[in-house]
Amino acid sequence: MISAEAEVRGRRVRIETPDDGPVLFPTDVGLTLLSALNADPDLPVAGARALDIGCGSGLYTVALALAGAAHVTALDVNPACAEVTRDNAARNGIQPAQVATIVGDLAELAVPEPWDLVVCNPPHFPHDPVYAADDGIETALVGGSDGRALYDVLLARLDELLAPGGTLLLTHSSLTDIPCTRQTLQRNGYECRTVQVCELDIPLRRYATHRDVLLSRLYPLRTAERAAFRGIRFEVHTLAATRIDSWTDQVSDMNQFVTDVVVAGSGLLGLATAFELLSRDLDVTVVGPRTGDHAGQASRAAGAMLTVFSEVEASHDPQRASLEVGERLAARNGYEAWLDRVGMASKQALRLVPGVWVISNGYGPDDAANLRAIAKAAETHGCRAEFAAPTDIPALAPQVRTHEALWLPDEASVDPGALVEALATVLSADPRCRWLNTTVTTVNERGEHVAVDTADGSTVLAAHLVLAAGAGTTGLLAPALAEQVDAPPLRSGRGVSLLARVPFSLPAAVRTPNRGFACGSHMVPRGDGTVYLGATNRLSTEPDYGQPAALDEIATLIHDASAELNTHLRDAGLIEVRVGHRPVTLDHLPLFGRTGHPMVHLATGTYRCGVLLAPHAAVIVADGITAPRSTSTHPYSPRRSMHLPALDDLIGGATRGLVDMLCQPGGSLPPGTHEMLERFLEAALHEIAAGSSARAVAMRRLWQRAPMAECLPLLLDAAGRVR
Ligand SMILES: Cc1cc2nc3c(=O)[nH]c(=O)nc-3n(C[C@H](O)[C@H](O)[C@H](O)COP(=O)(O)OP(=O)(O)OC[C@H]3O[C@@H](n4cnc5c(N)ncnc54)[C@H](O)[C@@H]3O)c2cc1C
Repeated sequence: MISAEAEVRGRRVRIETPDDGPVLFPTDVGLTLLSALNADPDLPVAGARALDIGCGSGLYTVALALAGAAHVTALDVNPACAEVTRDNAARNGIQPAQVATIVGDLAELAVPEPWDLVVCNPPHFPHDPVYAADDGIETALVGGSDGRALYDVLLARLDELLAPGGTLLLTHSSLTDIPCTRQTLQRNGYECRTVQVCELDIPLRRYATHRDVLLSRLYPLRTAERAAFRGIRFEVHTLAATRIDSWTDQVSDMNQFVTDVVVAGSGLLGLATAFELLSRDLDVTVVGPRTGDHAGQASRAAGAMLTVFSEVEASHDPQRASLEVGERLAARNGYEAWLDRVGMASKQALRLVPGVWVISNGYGPDDAANLRAIAKAAETHGCRAEFAAPTDIPALAPQVRTHEALWLPDEASVDPGALVEALATVLSADPRCRWLNTTVTTVNERGEHVAVDTADGSTVLAAHLVLAAGAGTTGLLAPALAEQVDAPPLRSGRGVSLLARVPFSLPAAVRTPNRGFACGSHMVPRGDGTVYLGATNRLSTEPDYGQPAALDEIATLIHDASAELNTHLRDAGLIEVRVGHRPVTLDHLPLFGRTGHPMVHLATGTYRCGVLLAPHAAVIVADGITAPRSTSTHPYSPRRSMHLPALDDLIGGATRGLVDMLCQPGGSLPPGTHEMLERFLEAALHEIAAGSSARAVAMRRLWQRAPMAECLPLLLDAAGRVR
């Protein structure tokens, strides 16, 4: 048995219902009517003949009888409710003659004599087949496609049910269009007043496992202004259809915000997701730095090439490459339209520079094979890839000879700084978006909400959380929640890039293929004679956002760019150096959408392609919120299983990258030494993988934290330091 006690007009009410039985135990919504009766002694109960519609456990029947009603008729379509109501009436010392129970549907109720007082707490959830159970609990909670089924019958029959001068006392959920009820009452000649308003979390109980589906049903109703709620919080209005004065009881905490979706992180992934969610009529709170220098943010440090094919490497597994190219192409195909939307909403011109050149030279032993793999990927997907003479490339004036050039007209580049600013302008101007210029300290579950605590002492309660804090996403969740979310680990690919004013004009981006675990050397036009040079890539297991660029990283960039792309870069004026932490997963695929916890979503793991993938990710994440069943099988789902390589298996293929990396800057070793060094490193790494020395054990521990090719430089580094 579940039992609870409450007080009504000085009398104790004790209600019991069988555990997990077919009768709904009173929810907080039900208790609001008792509090209204206590708050307003003028509500006409004493001596009244009352009808309790949908009596459930009998809470109202008992409360009205104890508060002095002459007689109460308790009606419910669920036969078990009649029995439990009778039991509860007896439990509270009410004479059997004071209460009559009727099993039946309000639509068919015979009304031999109307009642002085009609009370009702109707079911208020919209129907969905996922939680349809055809039991007493569904009857008590679910009211047809829009949740209003019983409200509508009640309003249609109210003239018959109420005696002249009688009162309807209605517990009205804000999920079921309160204005519609008020207008109907007014139209039908009733004066309607609000006795009390209570803010509550939607009482989900046995529906808790379906709250995402329930919310996806409620969002369109809210868009149509037929439901009102924010996050999981809604209002219960006690309406009395007779008198005029009203009072409200709303508690608000200045440091607590309730929102539909809280987005943690203000990089491109977070902002693009917030933009998409707002377009779906959701109320959004972004938590993340808005002002300041954005140290460590990947989005502002990015080259922002929209590289669909030029990320392909000859050594990639073909199936895997095809999957990634397919997703990148989907993102690229929608990019112009998305950029137009952001541009229009922000009134800022966002320019996309078409085309990317990919070149090969003697610095990259695998360049030629990579160019062919890139061209093949483009052709396979019906896109253009044109080999051209290196002399055709505007602004290419390298020190080392360019062997081949591939023009990819369907690739492009954007200015990520301008994009971030435009999105920030749109979000700041949208009244449904709140932006807390702080950081998330921890995330917990609180009641039905996800609760995000921030560094400035505020708390955001939300129905959904999108984690989009880039490489900073790890470790934000409190342990109990982290266990349910079960997010794959994230690492950081620390990258340094710089912006320079150059003495030549650059019409389109020029890049080498990926090499040595990094994305090669590239220059990207930014307009106004400025050019972006990128980029280094160094794995780190714990990103340090405050760590500035090392001179060595800057030297590598300048050396490689001026040797491979344009020697005049030596004369360029340095404008800015940026460090960004690319969020990367152990299997290198992004994390978009729902996690093991239905209210926690990820928009991260985009590694080298986040600028391109941001709008695509935003749609997948928003679908996971508004249409929760649509994205569960997406290959970038955080719930996918990851197949991670053993160190031994990876060594053969990855030592070449290790040697490439060791050669930077400069890119070349004396003839024959490349292979020799590769063989030596391979043998040394196999020793580590199998060895039992303290050094081998420590290095294997490091490998376990980051089982990916990019870990090899860390192992090399550690090998020298561990004794
Ligand atoms: C050098 C470099 C070159 C790149 N080149 C390209 C390219 O050419 N094309 C491409 O498509 N992609 C490129 N990328 C990758 C792309 O930049 C990233 O994949 C993408 O920007 C990641 O965006 P994000 O929003 O997830 O992360 P970020 O941009 O890093 O944003 C995360 C935000 O979360 C904030 N944050 C951290 N902790 C917290 C917290 N506790 N609470 C709240 N907020 C927090 C951070 O301050 C940051 O603002 C490049 C990246 C780098 C570094």
